[in-house]
Amino acid sequence: MAINVQAAVFHGPGRPLTIETLQLDPPQSGEVMVRIVATGLCHTDLHIMEGHQPQAVPAVLGHESAGVIVAVGPDVTGLDIGDHVVPFMLPECAVCPNCLSGRTNICLKVKERTSPASSRLHWQGRPVHTFAGMGTFADHMVITADRVAKVSKAARFDGACYASCGGATGIGTVRHMGVDADSLVVVFGLGGIGLNMVQSARQLGAKTIIGIDTNDAKEAVARRMGATHFINPARQDSVPAAIMAITGMGATHSFECVGSPSVMRQAVDATNPFYGRCTLVGVAAAGAELSLPIQGLSMGKTVGGLLMGGLKPRSQLPGLVQEYAEGRLNFDALISHRLPLDLINEGFALMKRGEVLRAVILFDGTIRNSAGPQ
Ligand SMILES: [Zn+2]
Ligand SMILES: [Zn+2]
Repeated sequence: MAINVQAAVFHGPGRPLTIETLQLDPPQSGEVMVRIVATGLCHTDLHIMEGHQPQAVPAVLGHESAGVIVAVGPDVTGLDIGDHVVPFMLPECAVCPNCLSGRTNICLKVKERTSPASSRLHWQGRPVHTFAGMGTFADHMVITADRVAKVSKAARFDGACYASCGGATGIGTVRHMGVDADSLVVVFGLGGIGLNMVQSARQLGAKTIIGIDTNDAKEAVARRMGATHFINPARQDSVPAAIMAITGMGATHSFECVGSPSVMRQAVDATNPFYGRCTLVGVAAAGAELSLPIQGLSMGKTVGGLLMGGLKPRSQLPGLVQEYAEGRLNFDALISHRLPLDLINEGFALMKRGEVLRAVILFDGTIRNSAGPQ
């Protein structure tokens, strides 16, 4: 039997989301149904709503969430009704060559999962699409069990939800790249990912952590998360020169979280030429290219990328959520707004104006409208 769910429906670029009652089919083989308690508003969603990324409509967007399993389909092991879970963008099938290799978090089932042939959601008899086979702007979702991490019941849902996108990407990337106490770290772009990189670098003991953002309002939160320096590029003739002045020979680890080729070039130029590692995390426009002087790489500097922090959802995300539950990672300070579903458009308007760190929708009815860390 299908159930009725409340969801924010996307009808096309430039149009507001509308709150509708949709029908959700029960989970099929290998799937579970999750009652979503918290879902985060991400720039990726805004990107789609502004028409920068194609999306079939009508659709339910959203990809960061945390909730409780309410139904389990056939052929699912290791997940039960009542489990607290965090659905994840990437699957971890645990049997494909990539999953078995231990060298990457990109499961070979990723395309199949993120572009499913059919949807479990319907509206007025028509199928409703979901972003990347997820669709978390709804109070329930059906998703394959290989994209679901079972997490600690001690973790708050809003923070656990944040762990699945900005948290995983920011913290996973910094750990993957081997930041330690001797590292000189530079983070370009202090959004959710960048601020999590800052807190991760501090957790690993780095004593020089330079945060860079064109918004001066980011300085206070960046310092609170562990940044030792803040640079606003608008007040610099040369950002790489400003970084060299602090680090001597350049960053041992630089991270670009903006997605701009010109900022990426600055990140590469600000990286130590002998053993620095520059990691490009920001999502660039389709077809964008980066131009680099080849000689600048010949002495040992490396430039690369990483998707979702290299984190595997089922085997590694639970640990991240556990650290949050124990207070070793701080996501609460990065969640600036908690909203009910019917204020989702207002949440995106705040994001567009640069007035949120992270806005989270809570479905449990405990929130009418709240701004500020709790
Ligand atoms: Zn996201
Ligand atoms: Zn796999």
